[in-house]
Amino acid sequence: MIRRVAFLSVHSSPLEAPGVGDAGGMNVYVDATARTLAARGIVVDVFTRRLDPAVPDETAVVPGYCVIQVEASGEERADLIGSFAEGVVKWMAAHDATYDVIHSHYWLSGWAGLLLSELLDAPLAISFHTLGRVREATRAPGEPRESLVRIAAETEVVARAGCVVASTPADAADLLEHYRAAPERLCVSPPGVDHAVFAPGDRGAARRRLGLADGLLVAVVGRIQPLKGVNVAIRAVGTLPGVRLLVVGGPSGPDGEAELGRLRQLAAAVAPDRVEFRDAISHGNVADVYRAADIVAVPSRSESFGLVAAEAQAVGTPVVAARVGGLAYTVVDGISGTLVSGDDPTDWAAAFAAILDDPLQAARLSTGAIAHAGDFSWEATADRLLELYRGMVA
Ligand code: UDP
Repeated sequence: MIRRVAFLSVHSSPLEAPGVGDAGGMNVYVDATARTLAARGIVVDVFTRRLDPAVPDETAVVPGYCVIQVEASGEERADLIGSFAEGVVKWMAAHDATYDVIHSHYWLSGWAGLLLSELLDAPLAISFHTLGRVREATRAPGEPRESLVRIAAETEVVARAGCVVASTPADAADLLEHYRAAPERLCVSPPGVDHAVFAPGDRGAARRRLGLADGLLVAVVGRIQPLKGVNVAIRAVGTLPGVRLLVVGGPSGPDGEAELGRLRQLAAAVAPDRVEFRDAISHGNVADVYRAADIVAVPSRSESFGLVAAEAQAVGTPVVAARVGGLAYTVVDGISGTLVSGDDPTDWAAAFAAILDDPLQAARLSTGAIAHAGDFSWEATADRLLELYRGMVA
């Protein structure tokens, strides 16, 4: 029986609002799965690295789900991870806490998880959320290489974790191909959608709440970084007179600010006055952005799942997404949206126009989107995780 689980989330805290900086889909995932498991009576302690001195040492989010800030210091990443793991062990000893399972999120936590799993004799599950080798394979010219330390750590964690949790079959295939994951320890557990928040609603009312004008609108939602391919959406909209683009999200990563600057310049050049940039907004309000849009575009170069695509479909907005990684699982081409191969803006513009110019097709895709998104729920994610945890404990 699973009674208590330790989540490791070194890289960023589930208390952070997603959509800017290091906070994105993984934060949403950690928060939603912790809440869902806690509602079933399982104690979930999320250990994160203290970055903000103002945050309390322990935050009880809901009964059974607590976020614990761990001090970690060190010049090198190995020191930092060792220091974090020591901090976690100290907290556990001081609180007499034992865990049935450790579940790490992202490669840094995977590394810490290996140290703790050995020391505490608890099985380790790992969800990478993104993979260094996949990012490396989709890196644009001029972008910095993924660190070899990351790739080495991922390889070691894949070899030694009790369970490697992939988000989609495509993510699992990447783990097999790039990391030689052992098939018997590799499992697929897709993320979910909070259908209470991401539910269909009136487009006009959503536009009024957001202060958006009438007219054809495409939206892109997510952290601003080159990987997200926002330039493709801007160029595509540039060729469609009368169509506007709303970009919601803040800069992320070392190149985030520069990317936002480049995107603004591009927009001014190819679609003047038709592209609006807005800072990240609270997760609950993102639903209104999806409702307000005729299409949500996800032109990413890689995505292990693509929560934005799933959430938008749950709201009933057709998604036009890149045919890469997990997006080809999250969106069903021709049924819940359109998948586009490559990053040629002409192809993207054609996919947008096919929906914007054909209200019947838009309505069909909207119905398909709602039906498909119904397959994703945090309850189903929790069911699968518990099954995996029980398997490891047994
Ligand atoms: N998001 C948000 N506010 C914003 C932009 C994004 O709450 O302003 C959320 C969005 O709803 C989604 C997550 O951030 O849940 C992004 O997840 P996704 O898997 O699409 O991308 P990732 O951040 O993991 O690269």
